[in-house]
Formats: sequence, C-alpha cells, structure tokens
Amino acid sequence: MEVWTIQKLLGWIADYFTKNQLDAARLSAELLLCHVLGLERIELYTLYDRVVQQPQLGQLRALVKRAVEHEPIAYLVGRCEFYSLTLKITSDCLIPRPETEELVEKAIDFLRRRSGPRQVLDLCTGSGCIAAAIAKNCPQTQIAATDISDAALAVAAENIKKHNLQQQVTLLCGDLYDPIIKGLGQDRFDLIISNPPYVSSSAYEKLAPNIKDYEPKAALYGGPDGLDYYRRILEKCGDFLKPDGALMVEIGYAQGMAVRELIEKSGLFADITILKDLSKNDRIAAAVRNPHQKIDNLSC
Ligand code: GLN
Repeated sequence: MEVWTIQKLLGWIADYFTKNQLDAARLSAELLLCHVLGLERIELYTLYDRVVQQPQLGQLRALVKRAVEHEPIAYLVGRCEFYSLTLKITSDCLIPRPETEELVEKAIDFLRRRSGPRQVLDLCTGSGCIAAAIAKNCPQTQIAATDISDAALAVAAENIKKHNLQQQVTLLCGDLYDPIIKGLGQDRFDLIISNPPYVSSSAYEKLAPNIKDYEPKAALYGGPDGLDYYRRILEKCGDFLKPDGALMVEIGYAQGMAVRELIEKSGLFADITILKDLSKNDRIAAAVRNPHQKIDNLSC
C-alpha cells in the first residue's frame, strides 16, 4: 500500500491543482492539509515525514475534488485571514478580499486622526470583516454593522465574539440604514463605510466560476450598472453622517468616475478621492465633509 507523508501529499495536491489551473496551488494545498490534520501551516514543515492515514486521506480526497470544481478554499476550510485576523467564513457571506484590507487601512488612518469616542456605521457587513478589523485596531470606536442577510450576520456574530469585540460592535439586521432608528441611541457617525455589492449585470455573467457558482449573488450583484447600492447609500448619507464625517466605499475596478459623479451630485462632501488598489485599479471612493480632512493627505 502506498505511504503518503505530508511532504508527498503537499507535492501531489499542489501539482494536481496546477494542472487544473487553480490559483495559488501550493498555498491551497497547504490550507486543505492544515484543515484536515488540525495543524498550523508552519507545522506542516516541521512534520514533513508524518504519515497520513485514513480517514484523513479520504477527507482530503473529497476536498481536493471540490477544489478542482472551483469551490473556494475559504469555504472548504471555513475560515480565512483578513487584516491579521482569522475569521470564520461560510457560503452565506462573501469571502473577504485583500482589496478590502486597503479600505480598512484608510478607515483606520482616518479614525486615528480623530479624538474622543468615534462612531462608525458599516453597511452590508457580511462576515463582519470590516467591522472586526476596525474595532480591533481602533479601541475607542463603536461600530454599528448592518446586513440584510441574517445568515451572514450569524457568521459576523461568531467573528465578533471570537475576537472579543462585542463591547464595540453591534450587529443589526436590515436593509442598509433601516435598522438605525433616528433619535434612538447612536444615529450620527464619524464614518460610514461599506463594501456593498457592486458587480454589474454584464460583469456578473463574466465572473470566474469560483466566484459566480459559489459566492452569494446578493453579496455581489449591484444592479444593471453595479451602482444601485451607491445611489441608495448616498440618498440617506446626509441623515446619518456627522457634519465633519466621511464616507468610504469599496468600488469596482472601473467605477471610479461614475461613483465620483454620484458623490458629487449628493452635494454632501467637500472633497472626493478615488484610490487605486495594488493592481492599479479603482478600488476605493473616499469623501469627506470637512475639506481639511482630505483623504489623499493620508499615507497610501
Ligand atoms: N471584489 C468582488 C469580486 O471579486 C466583488 C465584491 C463586491 O461586489 N463587493 O467580484
């Protein structure tokens, strides 16, 4: 009978993933092995010669098969890393992307430059990744995080609890601002932040199978031109933002101009910045009400 050590399995799975044109073949192989064996990544290399037997071999085989059918590794292992936090992830929520870490970084920069208690509203929180990362890094911040999907919010609740952030983050179920009741508790925010669904109809059809066939459409699809949520966020933004507050949203790679125009049309902001991601695509729109707090003054 063939003997499968960790080393041999890693090599075999990584090769198989490469042949099947999966991204990040080696990393994906490592994550699946860690999941099945209950190890950290570093331990794979210290236990290179350990022999893996049934039933773990069978579990691995099943996961490898699902992975080559394009099921995302984050869903297969039920977790992912975001802004140095390990988060629980299920197919009820979008898998946090590295681009969204850049949005979080801008938000943290902005919040750190303010003094006293700060209030943030995170719309379409999904797994709670943005709220958790901000809360962890800005202890003086209170965050209200809303989402229309109670299944996604259940995942967010686990993430908030796992990182002990219940004192800072309040999760609320409902459409955008609906759960924020005016006059009842906190209803004015220093920062409104969101990574809303922003994929247009034509872009949705062209999404890679690992996204289109597995991630929730409700978390991706932003209406015919992908801009529906920005319109709706801007419609009520003035009611919930402090007079010197800011709006920061993640946007699609070619939506910079269109989102800038929508923000301008709202007439609420003194300065608007469109920031690019590491691949030089439009990725963040940031707007401030006070012209002295321009976002492009902050470190990129
Ligand atoms: N960035 C996601 C993608 O890869 C879209 C996320 C969103 O719609 N908010 O398609």
